[in-house]
Amino acid sequence: MTADKELNRRTFVASLVAAGALPALGSRANAQNDNGGGAGGAGGPVVIASGNGIEAVREAMRQLRAGADPLDAAVAGVRIVEDDPNDMSVGLGGLPNEDGIVQLDASVMHGPTHRAGAIGALENIKNPAAVAREVARRTDHVMLVGAGALKFAKRMGFKEENLLTDAAREAWLEWKKQLTDHDDWLSEDEFDLPSKEKRSMREVMYHTGTIHLSVLAPNGDLAGTTTTSGLSWKLPGRVGDSPIIGAGLYTDNTIGSAGATGRGEAVIQVCGARTAVARMEMGDTPAQACLHVCKLIADRTSAPRLLNERGEPNFNVIMYAVRKDGLFGSAAIHPIRKFAVADAQGVRLERCASLYEK
Ligand code: ASP
Repeated sequence: MTADKELNRRTFVASLVAAGALPALGSRANAQNDNGGGAGGAGGPVVIASGNGIEAVREAMRQLRAGADPLDAAVAGVRIVEDDPNDMSVGLGGLPNEDGIVQLDASVMHGPTHRAGAIGALENIKNPAAVAREVARRTDHVMLVGAGALKFAKRMGFKEENLLTDAAREAWLEWKKQLTDHDDWLSEDEFDLPSKEKRSMREVMYHTGTIHLSVLAPNGDLAGTTTTSGLSWKLPGRVGDSPIIGAGLYTDNTIGSAGATGRGEAVIQVCGARTAVARMEMGDTPAQACLHVCKLIADRTSAPRLLNERGEPNFNVIMYAVRKDGLFGSAAIHPIRKFAVADAQGVRLERCASLYEK
């Protein structure tokens, strides 16, 4: 990024503050409710996460208050969910791929240095966000995948263990039992033609789940991480949006931080998190930026196998964003989603805005 651009961003945020559109850091004067999808605006510290991250935001906030670096606070927060065998969407206990093997994806981004790290299709290591942080810290690369990622993790001292819990293995066996054409392979005509049966099986049989967490530190620095076992029963080697910088996560220390959960393929196809941050740079509130991404996905989804009878995407994507001034928000394509927040008002779940209000 050129110094000019950097300056323009700063000038942009400063001009919004001067015009009263954004509250100044540390000021509560203009705190506003952001379209049912979040609020805030009182400066840092703020931590937001997907709905499964209530303990994660609590821990990240505790770390921030103790003076931790924002990325360290974020990684410590999501570790709680990665370590939890009962969360079947992340880390230990995550649902496996088509072959019954748990493959994990994660990314991190550190606002102050603009460094990023990511891990794709990592096996046998339950804390991929921490491995991604080491990629950012200890290498000149951004992303390592598969066998190379595992080798790197072991070199960094991470211990290998079996991530497939009995509950996840039984769920996989159950899926295998019912397997006919309900998998991720498309027959030649299936790309365009509706397949009602396939569609309903997708809704019932496939599980997505991830934790995204973004942090605004008391000094205004930002960081984020997204970590997942990805889409259940995925093809071996499939990598979703979570480890793709700009899709499942993007942090710009001068603007804000954003992330995604839900159908990763759709998020990748619109560069979801980067788009949300770009929208905030253009003046959107976080909830508006998140809704913009959801709408973009809906507008660009045309394959009949991915649409319901109303022509809406038959999957969900949930976007999360926090802005440099402390305003935060979240929006989903389909309603009844909540996201986790920790700020000066405490730790709680808030309702996500949604594209299709019911
Ligand atoms: N976004 C993740 C992926 O596609 C899954 C999820 O968030 O549910 O891998």
